[in-house]
Amino acid sequence: MSSIPTGQFITRSAEETFELAYRIGEAINESTVFLLQGDLGAGKTVFAKGIGAGLDIDPAEVNSPTFTIVNQHDGRMRLYHLDLYRIAGGANEVYDLGLEEIITESEAVVVIEWPERLGAFAIPKAYRVEIGDLGADDRSVNVHHEV
Ligand code: ADP
Ligand code: MG
Repeated sequence: MSSIPTGQFITRSAEETFELAYRIGEAINESTVFLLQGDLGAGKTVFAKGIGAGLDIDPAEVNSPTFTIVNQHDGRMRLYHLDLYRIAGGANEVYDLGLEEIITESEAVVVIEWPERLGAFAIPKAYRVEIGDLGADDRSVNVHHEV
């Protein structure tokens, strides 16, 4: 089982958020799903980059591109990075993305920005990461493991 750090963290720069996510990424040794919540500009993609780096993936390659919803990166484990911002949402559209297959793939890490769009598509045992803007470069980052 991965020993992923959980709890309530405060970061004071993008680098600190990256570093926190890097430590989480480093700790992953089995299939894991992360649901990244927070407003535009909160730092979800920064966090995804840190997880990628912890999986030995070049963080410069982990982005939220305009026309792709699912990106795949191969590191010491495979990373699927999804940004659901542009989908209307709901379980049907999520099934069409092939998410069912992706989350049942063994040895894969799945990071989902805008999980609110999942609708009724439930993902058990995910790590939920809630990033809140505390003003300037300060962010609250709450990481918890769901049942
Ligand atoms: P999101 O994916 O949530 O829309 P991004 O990760 O793309 O947001 O962007 C976050 C922006 O906020 C970046 O420009 C980053 O440099 C800046 N930033 C400032 N402080 C922080 C912090 N503590 N953690 C994360 N990002 C921060
Ligand atoms: Mg983003």
